[in-house]
Amino acid sequence: MDIQTEKQKLAETIRAYHLKGWSPATSTNYSFRDTEEPNVLYVSRSGIDKSQFTADDFMEVDLDGRPMPGFENLRPSAETLIHCRIYRLFPEMNCILHSHSVYSVLHSAVHTNGVSFSGYEVLKGYDGIKTHETAVKCPVFPNSQDMQAFSALLERDAEMLKIPAFIMAKHGTYAWGRDLFEAKRHLETTEYLLEVEWRLRNA
Ligand SMILES: [Zn+2]
Repeated sequence: MDIQTEKQKLAETIRAYHLKGWSPATSTNYSFRDTEEPNVLYVSRSGIDKSQFTADDFMEVDLDGRPMPGFENLRPSAETLIHCRIYRLFPEMNCILHSHSVYSVLHSAVHTNGVSFSGYEVLKGYDGIKTHETAVKCPVFPNSQDMQAFSALLERDAEMLKIPAFIMAKHGTYAWGRDLFEAKRHLETTEYLLEVEWRLRNA
């Protein structure tokens, strides 16, 4: 894996998602890891305007979220511990994306037990789903500023993660995949379904 190329590809995705309105006011965070060195994460630095995000705006941390040598003076995103927990829960996953989309916030304000999707063609965007004739539920977890507590909750309720995505209430969506391509598919599938389902329920 060429790390610089991966950084550029993810930076491009981050800027594109900003244009969708998924990362207002420097919010959201992103990461990937090298399949040959899975204990090192490349995470977005805190406080960067996502419309300007470049390959230079990643830093390296370990699987506990601690900056790697050479990066001690930089601050990783506050939510890095969530990334660490997802990578530990799903060792085959290598890329995590996050949005602060309006539709995830709207759903989670109303549907605190999760959001169900059934019968949609785009469900096939999720790994392993081959037909629209299926139903899945995107879990909603309470938001928290205590990332240790939130990642512990994620581990406790991991069996609820039947699709590679969840919502933090009134906050946003997390989605992941084996690589950037798959993680994008999973986030975009989830965001599309959230928008369609919200519009349908409020038509
Ligand atoms: Zn967030």
